[in-house]
Amino acid sequence: MELTGERVREKVLAGERLDRKDGHWLLVEAPLLELGALANEIRFRRIPDKRVTFVIDSNPNYTNVCITDCQFCAFYRKPGHPEAWTLTVDEVLAKVESAANAGATTVLLQGGHNPELPLDYYLTIVRETLRRFPQVTPHFFTASEIQTVAKVSGLAFTDVLDRLKEAGQRTLPGGGAEVLSTRVRTRIEPKKGGPDAWLDVHREAHRRGFKSTATMMYGHVEDTDDVLDHFDAIRALQDEWGGFTAFVPWSFKPNNTLLEKWITQHKGPNAYLRMLAASRLYLDNVPHVQASWFSEGKKAGQIALHFGADDWGGTLFEENVHKAAEYVNTITVDEIVTLIREAGFTPAQRNTEYEILRSC
Ligand code: SF4
Repeated sequence: MELTGERVREKVLAGERLDRKDGHWLLVEAPLLELGALANEIRFRRIPDKRVTFVIDSNPNYTNVCITDCQFCAFYRKPGHPEAWTLTVDEVLAKVESAANAGATTVLLQGGHNPELPLDYYLTIVRETLRRFPQVTPHFFTASEIQTVAKVSGLAFTDVLDRLKEAGQRTLPGGGAEVLSTRVRTRIEPKKGGPDAWLDVHREAHRRGFKSTATMMYGHVEDTDDVLDHFDAIRALQDEWGGFTAFVPWSFKPNNTLLEKWITQHKGPNAYLRMLAASRLYLDNVPHVQASWFSEGKKAGQIALHFGADDWGGTLFEENVHKAAEYVNTITVDEIVTLIREAGFTPAQRNTEYEILRSC
């Protein structure tokens, strides 16, 4: 490692916080294998054993109707479109039941911004999930869905969080962050609001005792400064309440999206491993980093465990968003256990809040 690299390594090993200049080195200049080794060293300092966790989960959707027109999205249909659909509460609960019967302990439920759905629709799904399937954690509704529910209901988004909490919900999924930079969000999702539209919901959720994940979808219009804006925003919010359980980066899938025609960035496995290792080092206050076998492939997932990740993610029994972009990947619990073992680690099943349920 040359001068900057030596400095970053010394800071990391001394437990000093990295600055943007260091972050730039991690994201652009660091030799990949040295970066991975450093991230791995820090992973083992924070989580000393060779345990790698996974969750049995499903990721169904309740509607594809959406008025927000994100340019990276292949999943949504405008209201009135012949392919638009919305599930009834009972149909959503049937999906939760099917996941529960397959052993899921987490259901990550999300959907489009459908202005026809009242607050009670969401609250009933939470209440009934907890009543009928107490073994399942309702990991429901991203920040922008909560903002939409608030607008439709004429409430503040904090009121919606309070009502969800009253209904029994305790965790939120981190989707919809994309890249938390004003420039990027204005370009690819102008109707969704700037970074604060996502950050404010997570801040207020954390203040109320919710846990959530922090995600990042990269590989479209962002540059290094945008990624550092994202890292800085997550790290600063984590300093406030400590409510993020994990950081989960994945790469953009362009098929069938408005960005497909002109996107020129092709981010392969090396870019993914760099992003993962950099996040482990820069986000010094986020406990877990998740390897995304689903969006990057199982082999990349195994390698990611040597680049700072300590979690394998979930089984994702059902997934429709990537599928709409013609990207499909499936896995079984047995396969997860085998892949984690093959990579040299000890698999352990966790719940939504990263508590260990059993070693495998
Ligand atoms: S990403 Fe979500 S908010 Fe954006 S268009 Fe797709 S469904 Fe709508």
